[in-house]
Amino acid sequence: MADLDDLREEVRSWLNEQWDPDLTVRQWWERMAEAGWQFPTWPEGLGGRGLTAAEGRAVAAEVVEAGALGPPFSLGQVMGGPVVLQQGDDEQRARLVPPLADGTEGWCQFFSEPEAGSDLAGLRTTAEKDGDEWVINGQKVWTSGALAAHRGMLVARSNWDVAKHRGLSYFIIDVDQPGIEIRPLRQMNGQAHFNEVFFTDARVSNDNLIGGEGNGWASAVATLAFERSGLSNRVPGLSVALPGEKGHMLDRSAGEVASAPSDTGLGSRAFRSSTEIGRLAAERGSSNDPLVRQELMKLKTMGSVANWSGQRAREAAKAGQSPGSFANTAKLAGSHIGRAAQQLGPQVLGAEGMLAGEDAPHYGQVADMALSVPAGAIAGGTDEIQRNIIGERGLGLPKDVAVDRDMPFRDVPKSQ
Ligand SMILES: Cc1cc2nc3c(=O)[nH]c(=O)nc-3n(C[C@H](O)[C@H](O)[C@H](O)COP(=O)(O)OP(=O)(O)OC[C@H]3O[C@@H](n4cnc5c(N)ncnc54)[C@H](O)[C@@H]3O)c2cc1C
Repeated sequence: MADLDDLREEVRSWLNEQWDPDLTVRQWWERMAEAGWQFPTWPEGLGGRGLTAAEGRAVAAEVVEAGALGPPFSLGQVMGGPVVLQQGDDEQRARLVPPLADGTEGWCQFFSEPEAGSDLAGLRTTAEKDGDEWVINGQKVWTSGALAAHRGMLVARSNWDVAKHRGLSYFIIDVDQPGIEIRPLRQMNGQAHFNEVFFTDARVSNDNLIGGEGNGWASAVATLAFERSGLSNRVPGLSVALPGEKGHMLDRSAGEVASAPSDTGLGSRAFRSSTEIGRLAAERGSSNDPLVRQELMKLKTMGSVANWSGQRAREAAKAGQSPGSFANTAKLAGSHIGRAAQQLGPQVLGAEGMLAGEDAPHYGQVADMALSVPAGAIAGGTDEIQRNIIGERGLGLPKDVAVDRDMPFRDVPKSQ
């Protein structure tokens, strides 16, 4: 604990000297990456200092405390960088990670397809080798942030003659090219964060094949694990800003972006906590209503249990033990907490809880939260899939029946 206190002191005094709200976002992120505080768990020279997850959280907590702008946030920073660091080679790490570390690039995730979401290994987008390049054909869907992304993590089928999990390859593909067409999809919260994406003879260099041909499933599973742990490990209050030129943040003032409400595309997170809804209830005079109090306490209890489970998993990881299926239970808990808040927020705010937009009470964040909660229970693997994983990997229950697991993928029947 003393070490953690020393670390916090070091970060605090660095932030005292270095945080300047008048810097541009670009300048601030460069400064953070150079000092190794941007992504503290990443290696030295690549935006980090090789710290543990617990140490990384302590650094992030100091950033929040100082009111400074947090690190760039796209799926590239949450999952792509960690996967390249873990499964890429030295050349790929040195080339692909720095633009994520200093926020000059954001990435998206080209995984789901119209007929392959939960059953991701059933995907049909094809990668065919052509000299030093691969040619990509097919369709992805629900691709969050594709319009703002510079590159995408792509899983495609490079071999149709082996079983479905074994014929996949994993690429980091440039988004801006003639073979890629992105069409936005409108969500019920009014935003259009995700897209359908069409690949027609799109090209990706063999240098951007991660983990070797046919090993895409391992990289895909690692990506999903980083997605779950990355999102559930985020320190509350850490600001969210999109990286890269297309995110339109780099030349804005860091101070202004740090104090703007964060937008993760899944709606405001603030009104999912008992603290914020409790404050709202006190403000609206409903905190003495026994029904509201009961629901608030339920929300608080669920939040506390989720935090303690997180602490337990982090302690287990620190002691070299496996955290088990913690990331899955954490995601599932997040869905339950979201649904409880979804009921309670509008109840506290009354009819005004239905108003959206910046001029609505609390900038319409309660209505936005209520409409965005269902997405969180689907994105990154649905609740049912989390339960399957907890059952199979956590509790050792028998696997789901799957008749196509060992069949050459070419022979797997396709629904029309
Ligand atoms: C906000 C949001 C952002 C997203 N962003 C991205 C992104 O950036 N990139 C990307 O690639 N994808 C993204 N997705 C897609 C997401 O990963 C998929 O929606 C998800 O994996 C579910 O797949 P599906 O929609 O095809 O549903 P399906 O897999 O068709 O599932 C339909 C229903 O059947 C249930 N079901 C399916 N299989 C089983 C089973 N074996 N056991 C029990 N129940 C089962 C599911 O739980 C679900 O209720 C995003 C989704 C959302 C909502």
